[in-house]
Amino acid sequence: MSIEITSISKTFESFKALSDINLKINTGELVALLGPSGSGKTTLLRIIAGLETADSGSIMFDGEDNTGKSTQDRKVGFVFQHYALFKHMTVFENIAFGLKVRPSKLRPSKEVIEKKVNELLSLVKMEELAKRYPSQLSGGQRQRIALARALAVEPRVLLLDEPFGALDAKVRKDLRRWLRKLHDEYPITSVFVTHDQEEALDVADRIVILNQGKIEQMGTPEEVYDNPTNPFVYNFLGNVNLFHGRVHNGIIELGSLKLDSPEHSEAVDRKIISYIRPHDIEISLEQYENEFVAAEVIFIRAVGPIVNLEMKRIDSGEYIEAEISKDIYKKLALKERQTVFVKPKDFKVFIPEDY
Ligand code: ATP
Repeated sequence: MSIEITSISKTFESFKALSDINLKINTGELVALLGPSGSGKTTLLRIIAGLETADSGSIMFDGEDNTGKSTQDRKVGFVFQHYALFKHMTVFENIAFGLKVRPSKLRPSKEVIEKKVNELLSLVKMEELAKRYPSQLSGGQRQRIALARALAVEPRVLLLDEPFGALDAKVRKDLRRWLRKLHDEYPITSVFVTHDQEEALDVADRIVILNQGKIEQMGTPEEVYDNPTNPFVYNFLGNVNLFHGRVHNGIIELGSLKLDSPEHSEAVDRKIISYIRPHDIEISLEQYENEFVAAEVIFIRAVGPIVNLEMKRIDSGEYIEAEISKDIYKKLALKERQTVFVKPKDFKVFIPEDY
């Protein structure tokens, strides 16, 4: 089932929660709606579900207009952050619930329901726990049951709102890997809301980045991480160093650092902000040409294979964070208070006047 969202806008009193959202979700795709708190993620999910009405725009499912349809008629399944399982029902009964409450003409036989629930229990790897009550399950197990329950009624679309938000970091990580695998085995068109960048990068086929009710960028995890089209996305998707400088005739100047930038060959003395990820920073003990900037190492964290360095530029006093391999760290015998030379292996320049 494909979903086509066209020109959706939503205002609450005078607050514009969504402005002109356009998005096409392909059949079988797992799409993350990612953004900071208040960016409109849940509102968009609720509009897709039919739980909220948009002020304007349309929602099509497989080319069919669903804009005015009720949630029931849209046949969407939900999983929320707080697993709303029925406390007085066993795991088995919880999963079977949606099938049992169907009108008698549409209700499957007891045997069919049993077969379906057993299949789902096996899909979510919970066969052993069918007779337990929700209070006897861990948070992660409850969330898997909530997912099985949503899938039982064979929704055309699965909508998940921060499904793992209430769980601790380790369980979250396990569950999102599991969700990815489950989705590969059971490819139902799914949209999930998260404010966790790592979660979106880890799980989604495609990420839609929302900010203040607008789409900033959408693309595969690699596309948005490697080629952010604006500073918001760059900042939002990971740790970043920010250097202010100028560009003139294809040469970027950041303090004493000068770098070629052929894509800015036409620029005449313009202000820039350059963004450099910590893992794109190279460290050297010698200064070569004018490509390196001198910095003092002020903090080293050498736990695990990646070493985190915090440095202070000698010319401007700006802080620089770097991530280097333990091998390089050992080879250079780095110490705190040492002077090093820093070079960006990769960086991205944004000209603020463009925004
Ligand atoms: P979070 O990650 O915190 O859940 P979100 O990105 O999901 O945030 P939404 O819940 O979609 O954000 O809310 C977007 C904006 O719309 C927020 O500023 C919120 O306060 C506002 N909003 C949402 N629902 C209502 C409502 N029913 N009445 C008034 N304002 C609302």
